[in-house]
Amino acid sequence: AKVFIYVHPFEGMPTEENFRLIEEDLPPLKDGEFLAEAVYLSVDPYMRAYAPRLKVGETMIGSQVAKVIESKSIQFPIGSYVVGVFGWRTHTVVPENLPVSQFTPPPVLISYDGSVPLSYYLGVLGMPGATAYFGFLDICKPKPGETVVVSGAAGAVGSHVGQIAKIKGCKVIGIAGSDQKCQWLKTIGFDFVINYKKDNVEQALRAAAPNGVDCYFDNVGGEITTTVINQMNRFGRVSCCGAIASYNDNTPAKAIASYNDNTPAKVTTFLLPVILQELEFKGFVIYTWRNKWNEAVKRNQEWMTEGKLQYQETITEGFENMPKALIQLMQGKNVGKAIVKV
Ligand code: NDP
Repeated sequence: AKVFIYVHPFEGMPTEENFRLIEEDLPPLKDGEFLAEAVYLSVDPYMRAYAPRLKVGETMIGSQVAKVIESKSIQFPIGSYVVGVFGWRTHTVVPENLPVSQFTPPPVLISYDGSVPLSYYLGVLGMPGATAYFGFLDICKPKPGETVVVSGAAGAVGSHVGQIAKIKGCKVIGIAGSDQKCQWLKTIGFDFVINYKKDNVEQALRAAAPNGVDCYFDNVGGEITTTVINQMNRFGRVSCCGAIASYNDNTPAKAIASYNDNTPAKVTTFLLPVILQELEFKGFVIYTWRNKWNEAVKRNQEWMTEGKLQYQETITEGFENMPKALIQLMQGKNVGKAIVKV
């Protein structure tokens, strides 16, 4: 197996030096185990946020779509496809009852009929798709006619949230990092787009949402978020999905609390608008919905078939390019879901 291990703790943006590619011999299968061969690997922001919890020398965390190529498990027969959090590896010996945690769900079989690429199970029909579905609908509770803002809007989760908001009859404003991304968002139905690298977000948002913002789906945190919060209406709802603006920041004032050095982040408060506008803030980890997952997969599939949900991927070829793909995601080079094809 080819395996990327985490060899140098992250400081700021990920670099190739944080990882080392090694070859590993795999042991013969025991009863209840199967051998998974990676087909596609997912590239996700949480890898940077989560990795400081890894010990140096451990396999990088990540999920993949894999084919079962050997098996001593009745549950996972040869030839079947599985989605699992096996890490940055080409081949993995997996026990069918792999230990699960808040961040590592059990491997699941895909009922694959060939109608969509297998990689979709890492995106629109997988974790990001469920994140958009439950994280937006259950937490923002959008009503027709409301104004919804999505940050990180051109990514896997954000682009999906914006389209669900349109399906629910909302006005949708997306915030993203390039004109090319903003143009794409217009083509998939976003009503207004803001390029946060060029536009004055505060003014652009006042122009796009003269009556204020009712729902905010937050993928990024940081200044974009404080700016949006200040324009929210009474009883607005905020789904705190991600904080990518701070994932690569090791400075004590901005570091992700407790991940890097156990020092809680100290930030300028933005609580007054939360209090005065009586906002609801809710953070979440998507695997909490694990038992309802199929509802999201089914609905997302239907919306795609009905032409209501457009989906885009940025695919990097070659397992050895995993570090590059993660670095490029952090640089905003992906449009839609970032994937590596082995
Ligand atoms: P994306 O596909 O959105 O990729 C990341 C994007 O983030 C980049 O393309 C870039 O786009 C943007 N970005 C990078 N740095 C910054 C920055 N400093 N400020 C603002 N934007 C930045 O990733 P996902 O859709 O997979 O994930 C989106 C968010 O959701 C992440 O924060 C992730 O951690 C979170 N998440 C949370 C889950 C949960 O259970 N709570 C589950 C899944 C994801 P741009 O060009 O616009 O800057």
